[in-house]
Amino acid sequence: MYDLIIIGMGISGISAGIYAKKAGLKVLMLESSSPGGTINQIPHIENYPGFPSITGPDLAMNLFNTVNDLQIEYKLEKVTDVILEEIKTVKTTNNAYQSKYLLIASGRKPRLLPLKNIEKFLGKGISTCALCDGAFYKNQDVAVIGGGDSALSESLYLAKIVKTVYLIHRRKEFRGIEELIKKVKNTSNIKIIYDNEVTALITKKDKLTGLKLKDQDLMVSGVFIYIGSDPNTDFLHNTSLKMENGYLIVNNQYETNIPGVYATGDVIKKDIYQLITAASEGATAAINISEN
Ligand code: NAP
Repeated sequence: MYDLIIIGMGISGISAGIYAKKAGLKVLMLESSSPGGTINQIPHIENYPGFPSITGPDLAMNLFNTVNDLQIEYKLEKVTDVILEEIKTVKTTNNAYQSKYLLIASGRKPRLLPLKNIEKFLGKGISTCALCDGAFYKNQDVAVIGGGDSALSESLYLAKIVKTVYLIHRRKEFRGIEELIKKVKNTSNIKIIYDNEVTALITKKDKLTGLKLKDQDLMVSGVFIYIGSDPNTDFLHNTSLKMENGYLIVNNQYETNIPGVYATGDVIKKDIYQLITAASEGATAAINISEN
């Protein structure tokens, strides 16, 4: 029996774990992939205080080192179901754990375009992680799809590796921050294709060779999709947690509509999705829980 179970070891979950452990709570953290979560996929972070520039995997490793230094208990197990009574039960593929409080910090997963065969080519031409797959396309032509901060920053990362990045955005204006837009426009091997959409994959003998756009065919070896993401809330299907478009609704204490169940980071409905806000929310929730 734990005081607090934290689902997700991204920056929000780990920040909560640090504060909860230091407050003397018996904590268990659960993670389905790698500690650090989506931070592991960010090539460069330049807006996190104390680190003028750090790679995502390095920041993830620093976070994980803190977990180990503080001897915070964690298990790399995928959560499949939760039962939210006075005692919270968290079921994973292998086990079930119980706690008085639950913090959901399960983050988001990248969205894919609704194109025929997209799943089949995922990892074989289609990617949602430039840091993981960019090196496979050294000196080749690739496409990036999207117009937000992710598409812009990942285009800049890829431009240093590949021959040409075709950045395809469905509108005439980017959604991302001005600094990134300027950098992208000033990078000679990023060619921007505005006001266009991908209608199909072009393939040859089980190999992705290009994209069909509204008005042209674009021959590329790799396609990186950054069109937003969806919250990881599948494991909450048996609960009455309040959500909006899949995002958990919380109050200003980061508590959901079910007493004792908190949520922070990218899985909640909010205005700003940044590392610093996710970390702050995790810490705040843990302090609130420990003061209950
Ligand atoms: P996002 O801001 O939601 O942007 C998604 C982009 O994909 C939008 O430009 C959208 O077009 C486009 N899009 C959505 N559905 C599409 C479809 N079906 N076909 C084609 N295009 C589609 O997502 P994000 O860029 O991943 O950013 C998520 C959050 O993380 C944001 O709050 C962002 O600020 C933050 N972030 C920050 C940094 C940083 O360096 N500070 C880096 C990465 C992410 P429209 O514009 O037309 O809607």
